[in-house]
Parts: sequence; structure tokens; C-alpha cells
Amino acid sequence: MSKNILILPGDGIGPEIVTEAVKVLAALRDDHGLEIEMDEALVGGAAIDATGVPLPDVTLQMAKEADAVLLGAVGGPKWESLDISVRPEKGLLGLRSGLGLFANLRPAILYPQLAEASTLKPEIVAGLDILIVRELTGDIYFGQPRGVRTLESGERQGFNTMVYAEHEIERIVRVACDIARKRDRRVCSVDKANVLECTELWREVATRVVKNEYPDIELSHMYVDNAAMQLVRRPKQFDVMVTGNIFGDILSDAAAMLTGSIGMLPSASLNESGRGMYEPIHGSAPDIAGKGIANPLATILSLAMMLRYSLGHAALADRIEAAVNKVLDDGLRTPDILSEGMIEVGTEAMGDAVVAALI
Ligand code: NAD
Repeated sequence: MSKNILILPGDGIGPEIVTEAVKVLAALRDDHGLEIEMDEALVGGAAIDATGVPLPDVTLQMAKEADAVLLGAVGGPKWESLDISVRPEKGLLGLRSGLGLFANLRPAILYPQLAEASTLKPEIVAGLDILIVRELTGDIYFGQPRGVRTLESGERQGFNTMVYAEHEIERIVRVACDIARKRDRRVCSVDKANVLECTELWREVATRVVKNEYPDIELSHMYVDNAAMQLVRRPKQFDVMVTGNIFGDILSDAAAMLTGSIGMLPSASLNESGRGMYEPIHGSAPDIAGKGIANPLATILSLAMMLRYSLGHAALADRIEAAVNKVLDDGLRTPDILSEGMIEVGTEAMGDAVVAALI
């Protein structure tokens, strides 16, 4: 049965990089039997300009009906002076909550061809392939009560509440374990169980879920401070890491920077039914928008995640990743990943090269 994919180009370099990803999807449809239909809609600044709001109702409705959503990026200086409630980024948050996307998957992969791009020594990071699974809809970012109150002394005090219900922990641990089964079957659960009761429960529930439902998965636990240290010390020790919203926010950015190339990293956000939104981890890069030099590979690799996690086409996902490997082997580089002796290409040429390498 044909799958419906909603394309949301967004702002800045969004439309440029999404155009290349759509070329890859079209090639898979035309030459490799992928049955898909593609629709396009507005989000972010582009939607504000056209309709006055960052997430028009029609876009959200189309996203809810789609099997998967591909997003470029949103935001830019043009909309920065708007009230925070109607900024482009609100469009993203609306999509996340409207689609119930509770699981954020952030791979940190360093292609051996790009090992020099990392700030760490090549032997520490070359061939890195870890996946951080971050809970996206709970934790201290959403817990009540929250706010700033005035104490009896007259001094003001800011406060937030870290909360996790058992079912929220169970479902994110299951996502991590299901994915680990397709990898090296190792999950490291990150918490601060020595200090925070909320994450003491996290550790207890994670242990129970793995013991009862995933006896084939090797589960370890690590305090978040140690996890941050281990990520920069010996990152290749990890396979899948699973953690809450705030710890995951910080650790996944640190892991991304291990690779040194923000234009290479995809991400996925999934809901209970396995539908998801797929996007590069970078933003709209207004500094290079319109120049035709943005790296489209993170967006193209987001497609590979879409095929693997929402569309059930793991073999086609492998094919995209192999094509990306091939263009890197051939020495093609956009300016952000350029090094001496390599061939500099723009956004369009990079997209064309991936399509040609799909064979
Ligand atoms: P950014 O990720 O857009 O850019 C950071 C740096 O990385 C820039 O120098 C940029 O040129 C470079 N870069 C990013 N993607 C690249 C690519 N594909 N190829 C080559 N170089 C690339 O982050 P920023 O500058 O902090 O934010 C710019 C705008 O994007 C802001 O409005 C921000 O709110 C928004 N943003 C959106 C998202 C999203 O849509 N998910 C995420 C982060 C930031």
C-alpha cells in the first residue's frame, strides 16, 4: 500500500536541502519500487508570511494523516522580533505535541572519511556509531508546579519540577530496546538516581522492563555526569543510550559535536504508533541560505531513518546510507566538511551524486 509523506521545507536552507532529499525519494519511487505519495505544506516563518501563524491548522491536519513527515528547518532573523508565542519555532513544538512525538532518536555517527572534522583524536571517534534515545514530552521541561515566586524574605526563587510517570519511562525504554535489537543489543540508561528520586524510579522501571520484556538486551546504568565524561573520553563504548528530556537534550548535543559536522546528522521523533517526524539536527542556517552550499546529507540521512523506522523499508534505508558512503569515498564535500585534496561541491551536486550512487 502506498505511503503518504508530508514534506515541510520550512525556512532558510530548509527548501534547498529538502529539494535534494525529495530527489532521493523520487528516485527510490521511480527506480526501486518504493510506493509513496508526497504532499507539501507550510511551517515556520514561511507559514507566518503566508497565513500569520507558524503552524496552520491544515499543516497539522496533513501531518496527522501522513505516514511520516520530513522537515527541513525553521526560523531566521526575519521573524526574531515577533512575540515568542508566534515565532517559527512554535510551529515545531506544535507538531511535536500535536503528533504525540515522545521519542527522539539522535544518532551520532562519524563517517571514517570525516574523522578529521572532529575536535577529538581520530582514533577516539573514527567509526563512531551511537544512538541517543531522548524522552521528549515529559521531565522538568513540562512538570508542574513551575515558576518564580517571592519568598517571605522578599527574595525571588525560581522553581521547576522533574516528573516521570511509570508509563512514560516504560514506553521510552521499550523504544530504546526495540532499536537496540537491530543494533548491538546494548542499552545504557542514564539517570541521576543517587540524588533525584524521580530518576531513582526511572532506574527501577528501566531495570524491570528490560528484565521482563527484553532479556536479550544488555542493560547498564550510568549517572549523567559520568555519561557526559565518558562521551568525550571513550564514546565508542556506547551502543544505544536512553534518557529523560533534559539529560538527553544536553547529551545529544554533546554527542553531535563529537562528529564535528552538524550538516551530517539526522534525527527522528516517533509517537506510539511508530509514525514520526524526520529532520536534520541543524537549524535553518540563515548565514548560508540561498547560496547553494548547504550540506543536504543530514536531510537525506533523515530519509533513511524514515524508511527504517516508519515505513518498514530497512533495505532501502541501507541503500541510502551506502550511497552517502560512496559519495564521501569519492571525495565529494560541501564546504562545511571540506578538507584538503577533496572535491568541493554545492547542495545540488551533492544531492545528484547521492541519487546517482543509489544504484
Ligand atoms: P544552525 O544549525 O542553523 O547553524 C549553525 C551553523 O552551522 C551555521 O554556521 C550554519 O551555516 C551551519 N550549518 C547548519 N546546517 C548546515 C548545513 N546543512 N550545511 C552547512 N552548514 C550548516 O543554528 P543557528 O545559527 O543557531 O540557528 C539559525 C536558525 O535556525 C535560528 O532561527 C534557530 O532558531 C533555528 N533553528 C531551527 C531548528 C529546527 O528547525 N529544528 C534547530 C535549531 C535552530
